[in-house]
Amino acid sequence: MTTKDKRFPLSLSSVVNQKDKAGGGAVRHTAMPQTAMRNAAHHLSGVAAAKTANSQHLHLPQGAVGASAGLSPSLLSGPLVSEGVRRAMVSRVAQQGVKDTTVLAALQAVPRHLFLESGMASQAYVDASLPIGHHQTISQPYIVARMLEIMRNGGKLERVLEIGTGCGYQAAVLSVMVKDVYSIERIKALHELAKSNLRPMRIANIRLLYGDGMQGLPSEAPFDGIILAAAGLEVPQALLKQLRVGGRLVAPVGGRNQVLQLIERVSTYEWNSSVLESCHFVPLHPGII
Ligand code: SAH
Repeated sequence: MTTKDKRFPLSLSSVVNQKDKAGGGAVRHTAMPQTAMRNAAHHLSGVAAAKTANSQHLHLPQGAVGASAGLSPSLLSGPLVSEGVRRAMVSRVAQQGVKDTTVLAALQAVPRHLFLESGMASQAYVDASLPIGHHQTISQPYIVARMLEIMRNGGKLERVLEIGTGCGYQAAVLSVMVKDVYSIERIKALHELAKSNLRPMRIANIRLLYGDGMQGLPSEAPFDGIILAAAGLEVPQALLKQLRVGGRLVAPVGGRNQVLQLIERVSTYEWNSSVLESCHFVPLHPGII
């Protein structure tokens, strides 16, 4: 959403505006926890960290999205989509330990309800993963924020690769804090859904790709950061090679029991790996469908 970069302004606007919300697959209207670290999730008081965050990235979402998406003023001004509701969600995320104000501000900036079926919009600001069709989920806000905080590590990210676009929510959050965002999805219908969700937001710095993210995107490498939104038993080798030296990759790893893994490329032939907290993501699969 930064307006600085104009290198691929047509990537989203060139798409036909067709809301592929049907998405196929049964939609369960049930919130699902995505991590064990949710104990503080219901405390609304405390850190209003987004207030202190750098406000230069906060211009676009509310006004621009509403105006171009043709949403009724009543929907936009309703309590569900008010800054306050989202701020409460961001406060809960901060209460769980996310401190990076740039990340919290990005979370505050993106209207998560616009990435969900209208029937699920009332749950949009619950701190949980939610179904988006095709047996996939929109990630839990806390885990999105935590992974971005780990990947950013207080530094500046120019180019970031996301594996697993899903409905496009995390790509939108990334676009607020990163110069160029590349996001790959292996399910064609979800790739189309993300395009449909993001198009009205007119975000110039996201490039969506349909393909197998396990191969990465060698043509655009190296990346300052790589983030996986689906869990494999290990991090694909191809992705490690596409990290810039000094870059950081964050991924859920495991089967039934998963952990967040951080991999830092310390030199051309050397990577450091560390294991962080537990988490629960949908599986990483090879190939495209
Ligand atoms: N980033 C999303 C989360 C989507 S869930 C959000 O913002 O909420 C994870 C996604 O990873 C699913 O859509 C799934 O289809 C996708 N995925 C799994 N394996 C993949 C692969 N090899 N390449 C690309 N996408 C993959």
